[in-house]
Amino acid sequence: MSHLDRIPKLSLGLFPTPVHRLDNISRLLHTNVYIKRDDLSGLGLGGNKVRKLEYLLAEAKRQGAQVVFTTGGAQSNHAMLTAAAAGKLGMKAILLLKRRGVTEDLGNRMLERLMGTETHLLDTDSYEEIYAEMDRMGAALGLPYYKIPCGGSNPLGTLGYVACARELREQGQSFQHMVCAEGSGGTLAGLALGAKLYLPGTQVHGMMVDSDPFEQISLALMQGAAELLGLSLTLSPADSHLRDLCGPGYGIPSPEGNAAVALMAEQEGIFLDPVYTGKAFAGLLALAREGAFGPEDRVLFLHSGGAGGLFALPPTALTAE
Ligand SMILES: *Cc1c(COP(=O)(O)O)cnc(C)c1O
Repeated sequence: MSHLDRIPKLSLGLFPTPVHRLDNISRLLHTNVYIKRDDLSGLGLGGNKVRKLEYLLAEAKRQGAQVVFTTGGAQSNHAMLTAAAAGKLGMKAILLLKRRGVTEDLGNRMLERLMGTETHLLDTDSYEEIYAEMDRMGAALGLPYYKIPCGGSNPLGTLGYVACARELREQGQSFQHMVCAEGSGGTLAGLALGAKLYLPGTQVHGMMVDSDPFEQISLALMQGAAELLGLSLTLSPADSHLRDLCGPGYGIPSPEGNAAVALMAEQEGIFLDPVYTGKAFAGLLALAREGAFGPEDRVLFLHSGGAGGLFALPPTALTAE
């Protein structure tokens, strides 16, 4: 079980994050719902990208990078957290963001301004073009640089959520079901692989908030992460359960997602976001309605953060109807 410890990582967050029961939600759903507070992961405004960056930026440091490039949508939580982490580590972050999504200087963009982060908004929807632009900019700078893919979702970043599954086991927790958002895939892939290793018998549910071919993406990330760990496991799409919660589109709030954000806020005093965690929690509510959870079951919801993006939306975007 020490495969994971052989891969270098930095300490960027405050781990373990708490796990606690949601008493009011549990009563409403006639089951036992727990929440893993990765929104309290201790860097920036918290969130799931901290665990991935602990592995990715360890590699960047080892390679002697002085500049770290990453990308995402204009309100990317991942990009903002990469800038926060790079600054702390004495590296310069350069963010190449897609112009799609909210582009006003609110939310994560305001936080990037606060950190003095260099950001460029690009009028392309092609990550291939964006990665090529990173190489052009890096060469022009003449400094050693490191590229992090969208969402930090490559096999190395995925190890962050394998480590999260191990952390849950070390916290003495076991669950019949775990539910998370799936945006670029690394979180679900890491949890699904980690559950196989450390929490056998747990069904892992990925609530898709974008419209990419996640069945292949998740499996490839799981296989890549298993390979990094030197494990030969038989992995299949059946290791995770995917459900489409995208609604009107990535980054666009949905009525179900907004209702879930409101329910969590009213019942538990915990704030979800409409882009990721609200839609993911709407997926958990749908499973409960369909009778997927028994009264004795323990169900874990991963709160993967997203507070930065919450403040980028007009208040009217968050009403349920
Ligand atoms: C990026 C992100 C996700 C999705 O995680 P992936 O590993 O990209 O699938 C979920 N929630 C929040 C708040 C995020 O920023």
